[in-house]
Amino acid sequence: MLALPTPTLPPATSTNTALVGAARFVVVDPGTPHDEPLSQLYAAIDQRRDDGAEWVGVALTHEHADHWGGLRALAVRYADLGELPLWAHARTHAHVRAEGVVPHDIDDGDDLDLDTIRLEVLHTPGHTRGHLSFLDRRQGVAYGGDVVATEGTIIIDPPDGDMAAYLDTLARLERLGLKTLVPSHGAPVPAPSALLGWYIQHRLGREAQVMGALSDTFEGVETLVSRAYPEVAPMVYPLAARSLLAHLIKLGDEGRAERAGGRWRRVDALGGGPVHNP
Ligand SMILES: [Zn+2]
Repeated sequence: MLALPTPTLPPATSTNTALVGAARFVVVDPGTPHDEPLSQLYAAIDQRRDDGAEWVGVALTHEHADHWGGLRALAVRYADLGELPLWAHARTHAHVRAEGVVPHDIDDGDDLDLDTIRLEVLHTPGHTRGHLSFLDRRQGVAYGGDVVATEGTIIIDPPDGDMAAYLDTLARLERLGLKTLVPSHGAPVPAPSALLGWYIQHRLGREAQVMGALSDTFEGVETLVSRAYPEVAPMVYPLAARSLLAHLIKLGDEGRAERAGGRWRRVDALGGGPVHNP
């Protein structure tokens, strides 16, 4: 795994690019568009190939540019190998176009045959709808893209971001009992179930705060954001508002909140509307 500098969301500064496999290997999330880190990646690929390994292509977790910024450079540099196979979800391919690359759709239940390793494809939506993770079940290692981050934070930004799907994804990875989770940003996480459980609790805690921020009157997200995110500085409100909206959409789908245009109010637990005290 190489942590290569990328134009990503601060405070994160780099994206992890993994070379997974042995006699056959795949490059996961070549995010850097910069010359110097790209030459590090070329050196790692060349070393594997010099050792006799076969490079089978690139796999992407999702479509954000800090995960595939080096794709075109790779296709050009290795043009003599033919067109570069690109393994990703169909929703990811819809956003990623690079010359010299052949898209192959993969989805939950597929696997990439890397000789001694069978890399399982898991559909792990939430951060984006087509987000994939890659699981080496035998070694208990998953490459989790932007499901968690140990540097920076994970943004759930609707409509691509989906909070309910994200919580399901976290629970699914938690249940795998992984030995190691390799995120795209920050250091790998040993025994990640505890961290995944914390992520779930953190989001549910925020959801409770969002419920507490809602009143019986329809109010706009800009009014609700300071109540739902009391600890956040006003300059971060635009970002927090996206996350707030993700929570509100989930609450709306569950019948716990109600929407009128861009404004929201809580729905009484008994479905009786506003409570009137005598
Ligand atoms: Zn992302």
